[in-house]
Amino acid sequence: MATIGFIGLGNMGGPMAANLVKAGHQVRVFDLVKASMDSLEEQGAKACNTAIEAVQGVDVVISMLPAGKHVAALYTGKDGLMQHLAFGTLVIDCSTIDADTAKVVGKTLAEKGIEFIDAPVSGGVGGATAGTLTFIVGGSEANFAKAKPVLENMGKNIFHAGDVGAGQVAKICNNMLLAVLMSGTAEALQMGIDNGLDPKVLSEIMLKSSGRNWTLELYNPCPDVMENVPSSKGYQGGFMVDLMRKDLGLSQDCARSSNSSTPMGALALSLYNLHAAGGNGKLDFSSIFNLFQHKG
Ligand code: NAD
Repeated sequence: MATIGFIGLGNMGGPMAANLVKAGHQVRVFDLVKASMDSLEEQGAKACNTAIEAVQGVDVVISMLPAGKHVAALYTGKDGLMQHLAFGTLVIDCSTIDADTAKVVGKTLAEKGIEFIDAPVSGGVGGATAGTLTFIVGGSEANFAKAKPVLENMGKNIFHAGDVGAGQVAKICNNMLLAVLMSGTAEALQMGIDNGLDPKVLSEIMLKSSGRNWTLELYNPCPDVMENVPSSKGYQGGFMVDLMRKDLGLSQDCARSSNSSTPMGALALSLYNLHAAGGNGKLDFSSIFNLFQHKG
């Protein structure tokens, strides 16, 4: 078993760190929000006052932070962790960030003899809690092999996408598609409702028809069609609209730099911007359903 420093205990990081504790690792945790550390401490993790304290004596560091600027500041910023990690430590960044930041952080850490992989995840809070996440890794074969047994404590499918940064590219391809599917599912459900259909019945029909997709299977955006999903809990928890906008922005930056045509991704970003402008940025991304509802 390893000693692991875990930084960032939000919707995803909290349950991921809890699964590492359950698997028997020594887990040292830090989050800017102290309350996020309390439940981890009750489950057996060691709460620390700073990120530097959390990485003392660890074999592996895992971070689960909002965006690239947070990851760069944590590792390579002023008094960043690179000054405090032992030679040979393995850093696993599970945040969804731009591939360029992942590459720069990886290269800077490598110059100090610190190993780095990007390992963004798919599967949402449900997958993080159940330990069934999909990890999409960018890094060397050797570091992938080193990380795999740790990642298996938090996930079921562990993919090696390529070198450092490749995990992030695969992840934003996936999330761009997810945003398109979520928006399309929401507009189809609302059109059915507007024409007198019961959204539960329509969902069942589409699930057994060619419109079937992940959002209908596991994350229906229409309230009260499915239990235990954000749409049935006032769109609380889950994956915030603002984080989806961040990922869609990353997808459009990536498309620009590779001259890829992504009209559906661009439209999804525009829809999510409109939704956020209505004050919905902190809600779960399935709340895009509300954008299609007739108001009054
Ligand atoms: P979140 O906002 O719930 O959690 C982020 C946490 O990081 C917060 O608790 C915050 O206090 C902490 N934090 C920020 N800066 C910090 C710092 N310098 N040191 C310590 N802690 C710091 O976000 P989340 O939903 O857990 O998402 C985290 C990452 O995972 C994002 O990159 C997101 O895009 C990605 N992701 C989220 C989901 C999802 O369903 N929520 C799914 C896949 C991937």
